[in-house]
Amino acid sequence: MAALLESAWQYLITNFSDFQLACIGSFIIHESVFFLSGLPFILLERAGWLSKYKIQAKNNSPAAQGKCISRLLLYHFGVNLPVMLVSYPVFKRMGMRSTLPLPSWKVVFGQIIFYFIIEDFVFYWGHRILHTKWLYKNVHSVHHEYATPFGLTSEYAHPAEILFLGFATIIGPALTGPHLFTLWLWMVVRVLETVEAHCGYDFPWSPSNFIPLYGGAYFHDYHHRLLYTKSGNYSSTFTYMDWIFGTDKGFRNLEAIKKAEN
Ligand SMILES: [Zn+2]
Ligand SMILES: [Zn+2]
Repeated sequence: MAALLESAWQYLITNFSDFQLACIGSFIIHESVFFLSGLPFILLERAGWLSKYKIQAKNNSPAAQGKCISRLLLYHFGVNLPVMLVSYPVFKRMGMRSTLPLPSWKVVFGQIIFYFIIEDFVFYWGHRILHTKWLYKNVHSVHHEYATPFGLTSEYAHPAEILFLGFATIIGPALTGPHLFTLWLWMVVRVLETVEAHCGYDFPWSPSNFIPLYGGAYFHDYHHRLLYTKSGNYSSTFTYMDWIFGTDKGFRNLEAIKKAEN
């Protein structure tokens, strides 16, 4: 497995430049993972399959789903791609490398866990600030247009918020100076995580049922369901920041009421 991966990597670094891999390669991987993981939830919602696991009874109209997709394509090509192209020197400056040998799995996993923790911390505070009156009205309300989220709404946001999300995602790698392989893997798991958090379904196999302190779809769906001043649940990945700072009280109270009713 490791040998196969190394020879595939050798092929990439022999045939493509660092710039092509870091910018165009990252963009292609991001688009593929994002749309391949997000689109099935649109199909599920339209077909009404697995509806017993759907968190909210309301469905999005095909027009609303279509608007989300067209806006996403516009922003991905008009904002994400140019940002990736111009930030290449920053990636190089932060010590990104693509040479062989690939880093050990221990290093890769250790760094990715660290990236998740730091991203969650930065996202939590940034997200709380986005819920102040002016910023919510002028920036963050775009992301909250969908009170019943579906996978693809995870990246549906104002361009200014897209830049903030990019910053929160890249700050961990900037601190450690990662291998491009680690950076790609981090991007893949982070996209899968945020698509899952917005998917609108709470399955028995959802990661929140297995990973302690993990937020996931049920936790973030609550954030979209409520008015911006009352929502709470601001974290992106974990639940402990909201618990420490008391911004999950509404969610916990509701859970306690539901439990008492059953
Ligand atoms: Zn929000
Ligand atoms: Zn959201």
